[in-house]
Amino acid sequence: MTASILPQKLRRKLPSPHGVAIAILEASQSENTGIDDIAELVANDPALSGRLLQLANAAAMGGGVTSIHQAVGRLGMDAVKNLALGFSVVDQHSSGRCVHFPYRKFWSESLLMAHLMRELAIAVNLGSADELFTCALLARIGCLGLATAYPEEYSALLSAPLSDEKLLAQEEALLGIHHLDISAALLREWGFPELLITPVLLHESPRGYESITVSGMALIARALHVAYCLAKLACTPGTTDLLHCTELQEFAQALSIPSNVLESMLQNALTQSMTWAGILQIYLVDFSALLNLATPEAGVTHYKESSSTQLRILIVEDDPIIRTLLQTWLKVEVGHSLMSAADGAEALAIARSFMPQIIITDWRMPVMNGLDLCKALRQSEWGQSIYVLMLTAADGDDDLVQAFDAGVDDYLTKPLNRKALGARLKAAWRYVHMRETWMRDNDRLTRSAAELALSNRRFQLASLTDALTGIPNRRAGQSVLVQAISAAQRYGVPLCVISIDIDHFKAINDNFGHVVGDEVLHTIGQTLQQAARKEDTVCRWGGEEFFIIAPNISLSEGAIAAERFRKFVEQQTLTLENTVTSVTISLGVACLDLESKSKDQLLIEADQALYAAKRGGRNRVAVSELGEVRLI
Ligand code: GH3
Ligand code: MG
Ligand code: MG
Ligand code: MG
Repeated sequence: MTASILPQKLRRKLPSPHGVAIAILEASQSENTGIDDIAELVANDPALSGRLLQLANAAAMGGGVTSIHQAVGRLGMDAVKNLALGFSVVDQHSSGRCVHFPYRKFWSESLLMAHLMRELAIAVNLGSADELFTCALLARIGCLGLATAYPEEYSALLSAPLSDEKLLAQEEALLGIHHLDISAALLREWGFPELLITPVLLHESPRGYESITVSGMALIARALHVAYCLAKLACTPGTTDLLHCTELQEFAQALSIPSNVLESMLQNALTQSMTWAGILQIYLVDFSALLNLATPEAGVTHYKESSSTQLRILIVEDDPIIRTLLQTWLKVEVGHSLMSAADGAEALAIARSFMPQIIITDWRMPVMNGLDLCKALRQSEWGQSIYVLMLTAADGDDDLVQAFDAGVDDYLTKPLNRKALGARLKAAWRYVHMRETWMRDNDRLTRSAAELALSNRRFQLASLTDALTGIPNRRAGQSVLVQAISAAQRYGVPLCVISIDIDHFKAINDNFGHVVGDEVLHTIGQTLQQAARKEDTVCRWGGEEFFIIAPNISLSEGAIAAERFRKFVEQQTLTLENTVTSVTISLGVACLDLESKSKDQLLIEADQALYAAKRGGRNRVAVSELGEVRLI
């Protein structure tokens, strides 16, 4: 199936990214696009900038990212593209007209599904965690698509509860297409690879996994199914336990994920969803009953935000006797939350989701020794600030220098002494406590910066929208035009602009009054926007004049488009105070051909053509070509 199976009428109504997200999507398709270009685009959108900064700092676990350029560098261009896409769609569709569509539950489910998928991706090494995050966030976008395109019909369909399977069948029967196909078509259009699209098509039902032969795809499909089942369960009223969800348990068993790791994955996904709901301004279903309610393993105490001296500690030791000794000292009597690993490699895998505050590691171990573990942690973003206490038989000066060079915070010599360990942990606790206090303050600051960015963006949006017609205003049009010209020149593609003026508009004001005149302006603005392609920008240029920027089409195609706009408006009947009438427009087309032409020159040519259309009797199109004006 390809994107083109979507009927044109449906396609126009489906959720689509806007503005900066589109520009990023387009730019990232070119091999020549670098971090500088993406950062420049991101900077145009204060909300996106704020959110990316916040994420880059969260990933860094200790902040330090202060510029958009750094944030894009740290998150990676692909991640930024995916996140911009996700944010843009969420922003535009947090509510809507489909009465029985549960918008709040939809976004709660999607957001949690995305975070669960990210956690699963990290735990079992599925590939780019950010790409999988956005893929899961948008996996169910087809449902929103149907609610947006067919609000009444879809609402009627949703008025009675239906199983997933029945819903698909009914959508297909009543609307001719079901939500999974729409999700797949949109994701394909937005550049997601087939490796993720097939899993999206299969995520509701596990049937079909067996037939997948592409390496990695079956596992992604299974993980997405698990994330979907968990998210659905979490949004079902009365649910208090996710850990024992059958699909999750089967998945964990198949991949040998320990139950402690599962538990911390669930907690992470739930708390992250709550944080993100704040950033995205999504009104989330209440997940609080699920937090910390997963049944803990006997003896494992949950970490509480430094309110006590309890710590999350990972013990890394190949000798089972020493491991047990440490566990007994730490767990039974002090009540820390513990996990253990037998070598450095295992420790890295566990640490990524358990996020210990302290790692107590042996030096000499098979597979990966303590020194290499420490170096690997210090190189990762998430492991930089974990406190590492090294156990060592050696305390020669050279050994110690080597250990501190690798990033070890403190050391303890073997044979182990319980009192000495207690003293070392006290120092570690002081460090963890100070760091967390600092992080909380920092988080509060970043959060208010993001909130500020969001409200800036609302102002910005308002300042770019024409209040009367609801379409972009002249200022927005100017900035789109500048971007479109530079894109056209960079990629060597044509660009058309169309200048439009309503015919005899003064007569409408004179005959029916200004209020009716305003309504007509609103109708014409909306009509033009409906008739435009997705990539066109229609704006109100002033008074009763409109302006269209149509990228990637030649002058002759621009003339055809203008003629289509003209007919569309002419055929639209208006009822003005019981009089049925219609309004006509005159249009002037100019094109930025391959030789460079300035923005001002382009505008002058479009206006000259418009005047020619007026002189030529109105309700017509004229084009400006090579300095000559020609009526169509
Ligand atoms: P033509 O363009 O075909 O030459 O005739 P016209 O009557 O449209 O020409 P003109 O440019 O002289 O008139 C434009 C009118 O548009 C005058 C002005 O009162 C009206 N107008 C401009 N802005 C608004 C507005 O926001 N609301 C209303 N109701 N009228 C507006
Ligand atoms: Mg050893
Ligand atoms: Mg005018
Ligand atoms: Mg006019």
